Amino acid sequence: MKRCACDSLPDAGRRAFFASAAAAAGAAATTALPSSPAEAAPKPAQSDKKELADKRKFMEEATRLAIESVEKGWGGPFGAVIVKDGEIIGRGQNRVLLTGCPVFHAEVTAIIDASAKLNPKALLGSDYNAGTILEMIPREANSPDLVPERARMLKGCEIYINGAPCPMCMSAIYWSRIDHVYFGASLKDTSKIGFDDAFQYEDFTRPWDKRSIAVTENFEREACLAAYRAWENKKDRHPY
Ligand SMILES: [Zn+2]
Repeated sequence: MKRCACDSLPDAGRRAFFASAAAAAGAAATTALPSSPAEAAPKPAQSDKKELADKRKFMEEATRLAIESVEKGWGGPFGAVIVKDGEIIGRGQNRVLLTGCPVFHAEVTAIIDASAKLNPKALLGSDYNAGTILEMIPREANSPDLVPERARMLKGCEIYINGAPCPMCMSAIYWSRIDHVYFGASLKDTSKIGFDDAFQYEDFTRPWDKRSIAVTENFEREACLAAYRAWENKKDRHPY
């Protein structure tokens, strides 16, 4: 489906988009230490200590949410918090068992919670003004993105998750334009307690016809493209 920030790119640009996104995700996945040049700049020891103490507090809160979900029988042992300017603005916990909804994961619900907080009123696609996460911001310097500006979403935020995100949640993080992912337990740790996340990442690397779920490609493609043309022809479309 043509809903990705990369979709308007030619093939080379699209590959570059994914390469840089994957590199960013890899960096986030392998280190819990500050990695951006600004964060890595030398600072007084006191402020480093405070920053690390804050990060630990955020992760403690994610873990607290995860444990609460298990103890109350609401879902799996997963919790997440979203932080902006040093403050928690969104909380989520796995509530798959409470809701009977298979996608009720901690990261997705934290994103929904944070988005609601950053949008001062119900938007429902009608208010794209400053002060909402749909406010347009210009692309960054050196970005391979060919679209000059997009909605801000959760840019400027970090997410803390007690366990590695599943592919759905990692994808939700891309859509949200969150800057940095911190997670504790690895995909291997998660496999050990009986969850399939690692397998899904593996399955995603296979061609459509080799995946564990049957996929039919190009079904009524020409008719389906009418929706894409509607988007392309919309003069006041709002890129996100
Ligand atoms: Zn998930």
